[in-house]
Amino acid sequence: MTTSHYIAGRWVEGQGSDCISVNDPALGQPFAELMAASVAQVDQAVSAARGALPAWKSTSASERAAYLRGFAEQLGQRREALITLQMRNNGKPRHEAEIDLDDAIATFGYYAELAEQLPSKNRDVPLAAPGFSARTRLEPVGVVGLIVPWNFPLVTSAWKLAPALAAGCTVVLKPSEVTPLIEQAYGQIADALGLPAGVLNIVNGKAETGAALSNHNGLDKLSFTGSNSVGSQVMRSASAQCRPVTLELGGKSAIVVFDDCDVGQAVEWIVAGITWNAGQMCSATSRLLVQEGIADALLPRLQAALENLRVGNPLSEEVDMGPLTSQAQWLKVAGYFATAREEGLQCLAGGKALDRDGWFVSPTLYADVPKDSRLWTEEIFGPVLCARRFATEEQAIAEANDSRFGLVATVCSADLERAERVADALEVGHVWINSVQAVFVETSWGGTKGSGIGRELGPWGLSAYQSVKHVTRCLG
Ligand code: NAD
Repeated sequence: MTTSHYIAGRWVEGQGSDCISVNDPALGQPFAELMAASVAQVDQAVSAARGALPAWKSTSASERAAYLRGFAEQLGQRREALITLQMRNNGKPRHEAEIDLDDAIATFGYYAELAEQLPSKNRDVPLAAPGFSARTRLEPVGVVGLIVPWNFPLVTSAWKLAPALAAGCTVVLKPSEVTPLIEQAYGQIADALGLPAGVLNIVNGKAETGAALSNHNGLDKLSFTGSNSVGSQVMRSASAQCRPVTLELGGKSAIVVFDDCDVGQAVEWIVAGITWNAGQMCSATSRLLVQEGIADALLPRLQAALENLRVGNPLSEEVDMGPLTSQAQWLKVAGYFATAREEGLQCLAGGKALDRDGWFVSPTLYADVPKDSRLWTEEIFGPVLCARRFATEEQAIAEANDSRFGLVATVCSADLERAERVADALEVGHVWINSVQAVFVETSWGGTKGSGIGRELGPWGLSAYQSVKHVTRCLG
């Protein structure tokens, strides 16, 4: 049993009713347990954050930047332990776990820099009207609740935590019950750095704990990353209290491959876009739109590439792809395999769970999938790729945009003018041209349509935790 809630600068045992099993998905077995936080403990965490706010928001931006640099440094010091824990609890291959850690380190470093620039943003506003002066003040939003999923635990939390602390907010973080140990590092680092008690609180738990946080009337803002169904409940709670909310939700993103592409290179991009993190990415490019002139050459190469991936336990084998992270996710993906069989889809690769212990599935490719198939329209969150052919650029754009989601897209073409034109026409928050899943801390993250509200990363990620105030003075 692990003590895993960090409230008001102290580690405490959970007093909730849910017992959380922490699993190794490659074995399908638990390796730790913890009790969820109770509703009363969530309340204590919010009160601690409220109590810590006046002093934290009065710290200088450079003081906050020093803490953020400390987070980056201390993450680096815990490198091997955090990589191993992600491999064990998420099933991530080592190179992916390393990239996640580096991403989290870069995020804290970046927001340390942005925090240092904050004083220069509080500047005078030139007015056309005579007799008045005005100045801008960027203030922290206040106490923020951060609710995150399990697929990139270190990263998703860093994308919220670093800008929130940089802005001068105090926070209550609720990690996913699937990966409740990884973000404990942030509490341990807060301890090691002497971060004032209550500035960062961490409560673990399932839906009940999440709902207690998102319904709490002591928050000034909630930032949520997760599924659309929970996101809409979180939005309802925010609307009941007329409180701002950031939502990073699901996706069903397109990868558009024009027939002037190098087939081998395109196959690499397509495979990475659907098998990284075993396809458990909001940004997975799970709808392949391939131009007719290249489709017959590309699909067999893609089939072979998927079949040749090494799938296994990242802790004991050299692997390209690990298991799905939870049994629930494994059952969900297996359900889509059954739907595909019922719909009579043409399966070119995979389409089944692996016959071994743990929550493994084969990398999967369905070809010529009808537009109204559930596999074409719904987020699966696994290594399941659906392909359709297109004839013209206009058709590719129309089909890519024909989705209730709008998170990301990839465009592959040797004609860069065309690729830029298509990128501009796609209704999404981020487009990659001739690259895949390349996320930089300076660019924004977030979606249009059903993929969410607001943006993380870059200066937009910081603005999400700031409130704009103007002070106008009569000079007369
Ligand atoms: P989820 O919505 O089930 O859970 C997300 C978090 O919400 C967890 O911490 C969970 O405990 C909590 N929660 C559950 N019920 C709640 C409730 N009623 N009130 C408040 N909180 C509650 O999502 P998941 O299965 O953990 O993650 C997968 C989903 O996340 C996918 O849809 C994926 O696309 C999305 N996601 C989006 C992004 C993005 O940046 N857009 C990134 C990663 C994941």
